[in-house]
Amino acid sequence: MSQDNSILCALDIKDNNISNVSVKDATIKNRGVIKHIKIVNADLTYKLYRCPQCGLNSLVKNGKRKTNARLASFNGIEYHLMLNKQRYICKNCGGTCGAHSDLLIKNHTMTKQVQNRIFVMAKESFTLTSIAKIIGVSVNTVSRVLYDNTKLPNRCDCLPKNLCFDEFRSVNGIFTFIAIDAQTHHLIELIHDRLSKTIIEHFINNYSLSERQAVKTVSIDLNANYQSVIHRIFPNAQIIVDRFHIVQLCSRALDQVRISCLKKINDKHSRLYKALKSNWRLYHLPEADVDDKKVKYIFGINEYTTTRNVIDIATDNLPVFKNTYDIYQGIQKAIHEHDISLLKETIYGYKKNNTAMDTSISTLRKNLNYVKNSCTMPYSNGPLEGTIGKIKKLKHISYGFRNLDHFLKRIRLICA
Ligand SMILES: [Zn+2]
Repeated sequence: MSQDNSILCALDIKDNNISNVSVKDATIKNRGVIKHIKIVNADLTYKLYRCPQCGLNSLVKNGKRKTNARLASFNGIEYHLMLNKQRYICKNCGGTCGAHSDLLIKNHTMTKQVQNRIFVMAKESFTLTSIAKIIGVSVNTVSRVLYDNTKLPNRCDCLPKNLCFDEFRSVNGIFTFIAIDAQTHHLIELIHDRLSKTIIEHFINNYSLSERQAVKTVSIDLNANYQSVIHRIFPNAQIIVDRFHIVQLCSRALDQVRISCLKKINDKHSRLYKALKSNWRLYHLPEADVDDKKVKYIFGINEYTTTRNVIDIATDNLPVFKNTYDIYQGIQKAIHEHDISLLKETIYGYKKNNTAMDTSISTLRKNLNYVKNSCTMPYSNGPLEGTIGKIKKLKHISYGFRNLDHFLKRIRLICA
């Protein structure tokens, strides 16, 4: 369908049965506020012969009825469509009916283009209030469109072979479980809490055993207690501990050891203290990126020297810190280069020295099979962390959500 009338073309109305269009300026008063709007007058009529009630070709035209519909705005001004809809009466049975346009939604004053615009803006993480302001409808209308007629699906169409599991804080401090496809990054599941019982019941009730058996890998982070859940619901799945979380675990331990070493140094003006205190970033650099040639001004110790020399000040004087630093570098290198033998060597070669690194390494030893998978498999939790970032942004700009159902529906929209 194309439209010859320039006004209808500008308003993106494609119904050829609409004619006699004119636009005029008008003002309306809403709660004491005067608004300038545009009123689009038009007629909706077409030839109709067969009566929908008795089936005979006995319909004749029977006047017009005025209806008000809201069009989507394209320059911030509200557009009200005053449509004169044709009425028909049956000469045989006396029944009446009216003309209908695809533009209109039955029993609504809103047109389909307004509804589509609301969905498009909701996908871009706009708040209900800003959507209402931009489109020129009430907040309640936006809320009704987004929440009332949509239903959360019980399951996804097809369970993918590679999944990522995590959780995020949703409404009232409750943690909500989330799963995405590791390859396509599509949202797979949102479950209102993260209890093992709820997750197991959800997957067992909604997916057949053969579907669940087809799942090959699941990526998780280290602190989550999902291992037993995964073994139960996906009998053939391999668990992958996310690469970033392994390095993060050791990186935190390195910082804790550095701070405990700092506390033991009595001379707060010494070179060692300054090298450890203000140049903490240098110890997190991968070994390959540490510069031992370029001399530059290093703040803190206030000397012209190389970054390698600064690191050496700490590692030469503090054997405990050197031990921790070497372990951290070993783990980081093994993960970066996907080197399983180096990873095993580093984890098993570690000797306890009563520091925070002991806990980190024992955690890695406990989960070694899953940690090893992070080196061999290409999947990680990175895409899921990105999705959770988007969810947190939505929650932040909306000043939080009170209704969990509404929050989950908005998440489905932004992840679509
Ligand atoms: Zn009839």
